[in-house]
Amino acid sequence: MELTDSLRGLPGVGQARAQSLEKLGLRTVGELLAYYPRSYEDRRRSATVASAPAEVPVCLTLMAAEPPRLSRIRKGLELVKVRLVDDTGSLTATFFNQSYLKDVFRTGESYVCFGRVEGPPGRRQMTNPVCERADRVRFAGRILPVYPLTRGISNNLLAGLTLRCVEGCAAQVEEPLPSGLRQAQGLATAEYACRNIHFPADEQALEVARRRLIFEELFFLTCGMALLRRRRDRAAGTAFSIPEPEDFFSLLPFALTSAQRRVMGEMAADLSSGVPMNRLVQGDVGSGKTMLAAYGAWVTAKNGHQCALMAPTELLAEQHFRSLGPLLERAGLRVALLTGGIKGKARKELYAALEAGEVDLVIGTHALLSEGVRFARLGLVVTDEQHRFGVAQRAALAAKASTAPHVLVMSATPIPRTLSLVIYGDLDVSVVDELPPGRTPVETYVVGEDKRQRMYGFVRRLVGEGRQAYLVCPAVEEGEEESGGLELKAAVTYAHTLQTEVFPDLRVGLVHGRLKSREKEAVMGAFARGELDLLVSTTVIEVGVDVPNAALMVVENADRFGLSQLHQLRGRVGRGKHRSYCVLVTSTRNGDSRERLRVLSKTNDGFKIAEEDLRLRGPGDFFGHRQHGLPQLSIADLTADMRVLKQAQGAAEALLEADPGLCRPEHAGLLARVRRLFADHGDMFN
Ligand code: ADP
Ligand code: MG
Repeated sequence: MELTDSLRGLPGVGQARAQSLEKLGLRTVGELLAYYPRSYEDRRRSATVASAPAEVPVCLTLMAAEPPRLSRIRKGLELVKVRLVDDTGSLTATFFNQSYLKDVFRTGESYVCFGRVEGPPGRRQMTNPVCERADRVRFAGRILPVYPLTRGISNNLLAGLTLRCVEGCAAQVEEPLPSGLRQAQGLATAEYACRNIHFPADEQALEVARRRLIFEELFFLTCGMALLRRRRDRAAGTAFSIPEPEDFFSLLPFALTSAQRRVMGEMAADLSSGVPMNRLVQGDVGSGKTMLAAYGAWVTAKNGHQCALMAPTELLAEQHFRSLGPLLERAGLRVALLTGGIKGKARKELYAALEAGEVDLVIGTHALLSEGVRFARLGLVVTDEQHRFGVAQRAALAAKASTAPHVLVMSATPIPRTLSLVIYGDLDVSVVDELPPGRTPVETYVVGEDKRQRMYGFVRRLVGEGRQAYLVCPAVEEGEEESGGLELKAAVTYAHTLQTEVFPDLRVGLVHGRLKSREKEAVMGAFARGELDLLVSTTVIEVGVDVPNAALMVVENADRFGLSQLHQLRGRVGRGKHRSYCVLVTSTRNGDSRERLRVLSKTNDGFKIAEEDLRLRGPGDFFGHRQHGLPQLSIADLTADMRVLKQAQGAAEALLEADPGLCRPEHAGLLARVRRLFADHGDMFN
């Protein structure tokens, strides 16, 4: 057996199963060995009919005492019952809807059955135990891996295949880590890790295997980010001359904050250096990052180059277009919008204008990455809310320039400092740590269902004062997502109830991700112009939307959101001169959940909130379902494996110091794995 062998053709894998396996990304033996268990089932404990404890599943060696009986209770419910015995007693095993088992058990044959034994002596029974013939035991007596599955692929099948591949191929698994590094870090070999991550000899072996695999993954990740950084540090960029900043200030309706001016200075230094700028601008919601993008576009245009600004949603792209367009047009820039909604002739004309250099700033969505988009002289690439874009997407847009363009990344997601190094390891970081003057912190309250009527009264009062309000729900349609029996406020029904029953005299709008972009824009536009009092929405408004007259943010089922996400939502209000409020409605009685929400009423500091989120919610959840722009990790968890992360970073730094491009032959395997992690088939790291 070879690592490159196809899984198809292995016992039990015909065409249909091979296709199902492919859905899991599994085609070869090597891929299967790199497909790690989600959890484990301990099948080491064995017992007898008499001694089996009620609490935990155990393995019993039992003989079939009589032929199994099949009965049909009703359509769709079939039972197979079989009486099994050992020296200490007998029990009845019952299987639901596995009628084929009727022909599997043979009287007088022995089986090892794994499951929970219930009932008093004399009426002992097991429900749906997992059984193997005693003379062909594969899984009993082991710690069994439990894999993420897909339709048509059972865990038994996958575990069986993996066992076969581990036995046949674990010794051939490549070792990408230099042995000196492995020894210094106390890491197991690749072969040991492969064997024990799938079929651990015991808990300790599993721990050793896990640590090795987590380390290696984080090590590849850090190496990749370092290589990206090194690559761009060596690239030649266009050195811009920096015009008088006063000319830019004169375009603006307000004075910039000192934080904004400091970041402008940092950008100016990059843009004029001759090395491509690669800068992350991190700043809390409302800190005025958009003006920095405007500054970049302005400098770029003054130097005869073009700028592309990519936003994660159409809504946001359109908003930037509305706010930056008029501002920069006053300085003579030609500004255009490119979203998926722009089609046909209009799109063709825009493509032609971009290619002819007749547009100075194009603002758009992913549509900017389309094949047809070509620039005459792309000088600056800006991505807004970067965590939604992958490293690869940023690179794809930059690749549309003939010489490496300057890159500016803007993000509001405050990432705990320890993590930002990996996530933005290839970027320099500027922080906009000051809000424009005159902002009062948003007053935040956590309320239960019992306060609903009071909350409605509050909404009415603010609208009476001329303000507008957002009401955010976690789901679009009723029942779309149900959890723990809590009924989620579905945006559609909620908007209907508000309009017909609660606020028949107010103007209620609805916006959610399922609407067409034109519909979305119409509703958002109406809200921005003050033609709607209330805007019910899903989290589509989460990023960047700016309506200064909105003074109230109500979040329903607030416990369903992460703290950082709520902080972002809250950032939609408090953007004007009005005193603003955020009301987090929750029906949870869980004390911890409420405590978590209260963090928001205590602080407005995005970094503190992010760190608290990390501490309270723990591993995995920090980013929600969001992309953070990094490659998909298969075993490591950036938030949970912090200690290993630091070790891996240290080791990567030392190794790259000795061999900065990973060019030495002994590092070829390592470079290959870094490439694989970043899904690089081209020249990302050259
Ligand atoms: P974010 O950093 O969240 O992207 P924006 O750039 O959308 O923030 O800015 C939020 C609001 O603050 C906008 O209405 C913007 O016009 C305004 N703003 C930005 N900078 C200043 C400033 N220096 N003084 C006053 N208002 C500002
Ligand atoms: Mg923004």
